[in-house]
Amino acid sequence: MRSTELRSRAWVEVDLDALRANAEILCRAAGPGVGLLPMVKADAYGLGMAGVVRALTGSIVAERLAGFGVAAVSEGEALRAQGWAGRILVFSPAPPAEFERAADADLTLCLSDLASVSRWASVAGRRGRMLTMHTEVDTGMGRAGFPWDRAAAWGGEVDRLAEGRLQWEGCFTHFHSADEPDLEPTHRQWERFRDAVAALPPARGGSRRLLHVSNSAGVLRCRFRGDLVRPGIFLYGGRVGSERPHPVVSVRARIVLVREAAVGTSLGYGATYVAQRPEQWGTLAIGYGDGLPRILSPAGGAALVHGRRVPIIGRISMDVAVVDLTDAPGAEAGEIATLVGRDGEEEITVDEVAERAGTISYEILTGLRPRLPRVYLSTSAPSE
Ligand SMILES: *Cc1c(COP(=O)(O)O)cnc(C)c1O
Repeated sequence: MRSTELRSRAWVEVDLDALRANAEILCRAAGPGVGLLPMVKADAYGLGMAGVVRALTGSIVAERLAGFGVAAVSEGEALRAQGWAGRILVFSPAPPAEFERAADADLTLCLSDLASVSRWASVAGRRGRMLTMHTEVDTGMGRAGFPWDRAAAWGGEVDRLAEGRLQWEGCFTHFHSADEPDLEPTHRQWERFRDAVAALPPARGGSRRLLHVSNSAGVLRCRFRGDLVRPGIFLYGGRVGSERPHPVVSVRARIVLVREAAVGTSLGYGATYVAQRPEQWGTLAIGYGDGLPRILSPAGGAALVHGRRVPIIGRISMDVAVVDLTDAPGAEAGEIATLVGRDGEEEITVDEVAERAGTISYEILTGLRPRLPRVYLSTSAPSE
């Protein structure tokens, strides 16, 4: 598609220079010798996995890349199909029926129980080659992982099941509160992880097991490091505590109608909004069917038009939303409104939208629907 088509109705702009700059910040914070394993699950948090991976592998941080993290086997398969030959970690527990596919795509599974280790070892045995695994340690997240306080027991069992069939390459835990003001729970998780690792049998063949613990918040706000770090949200422009990334994502929509609304004119489902003065309304070609949270309108949601903030009024529909242009006169159909991003001196961050919608930046980004084409912007290699 040509760029004019990609940008006809509403679209997502991804600033790859900003993405790379955020990756550099994370590399510096992680310190020398620590590998970068970007999390590209959920289509790289909605930005588009292919575009994100291409940008990172072709950047200055490429030499720091220790692999990529995904959640699903299908995502690992897609990344392989895209040509990435390096390490791919599948972090969420994979359904038993997908282990064979994981082996076909040469993925590394993250395992949390003995039955899964045994199953992965059987797949390796049938194929006559070693497969790779990392073990998760549950230090308080509760959704997956071997229990931290029984590492001596399960560690021995895992080692026995793996022998000759699995390379037990790494071990990790996941922080539940590294972005909270109080870092005490994170320190407790780190200590539990350290104790668990100390109770495991040593890696075979004289190698050292890769240890990793840090999401974006862990990298930026905590001192402890492993061999790899696993950032996601900060790469993609989401704030982490008080740490502000370069903004990466903009959401733009075309103004498709501009009309005068006389006093008393009602607007939208439920006719919840009624013009209290002679107003000028602009209809934007974006709605909740594109991932614009419907709750934004009564929650102070806004758009930027001609560098000015204009309120979203009435209920957001599936395909359109309406803004009050009265205080930003001169806007015309065909011009662009910004729902997330910068226009002149004004900016709406993805975190502002998330706060208004009562959620987190992660959900806003992953909620951007495929109907919005992703447009990749870069000064070094313009591409769409
Ligand atoms: C998603 C995820 C991350 C990344 O977390 P961010 O908060 O986005 O940096 C790291 N590790 C695991 C296991 C994850 O599932």
